[in-house]
Amino acid sequence: MSLVKKATHCLDHVEAAYKLWLRWYYTPQRLAEIYPGSRATCWRCNQQEDTLSHIFWYCPALSQYWQQIQDLIKLRVGIDLPPAPEHYLLHMMPPEITAHEASLITHITLAAKQRIAALWKSTLAPDIQSVITKVNLTQQYEEMSHTISGTLLKYKGIWSKW
Ligand SMILES: [Zn+2]
Repeated sequence: MSLVKKATHCLDHVEAAYKLWLRWYYTPQRLAEIYPGSRATCWRCNQQEDTLSHIFWYCPALSQYWQQIQDLIKLRVGIDLPPAPEHYLLHMMPPEITAHEASLITHITLAAKQRIAALWKSTLAPDIQSVITKVNLTQQYEEMSHTISGTLLKYKGIWSKW
């Protein structure tokens, strides 16, 4: 969490928004309680799993997707980030990663999570191109934000590898 705090001001807002909207997303179990007749199983893999950690990480139907995210980070940032939920979902970074690299990786993993949420109740896993598009959009907002606040040097430090 402290690393996320050290990231851009904008990122703090994104993280706060993420925590807020997460509470609005119901797991299959919760949906079955509200709508009798709907199945309390994961809509992607049909397993009896109703935890948010399954929906976002452990679901086997997402393993290829998270592998693609790992490959994307390796390609664009040059870091082979170990596949662990604390890095990809909670944004806790290994100590050897610089603050700028951590910021860029966090932008990528936030986009990856948002794409999963955007396909809530869909049987499909998100496609990697939609994540890249989302990060490109974030980059544009970040450039505007840093231009306004006069911190373009920081912007370039974070985004130069993307
Ligand atoms: Zn599943």
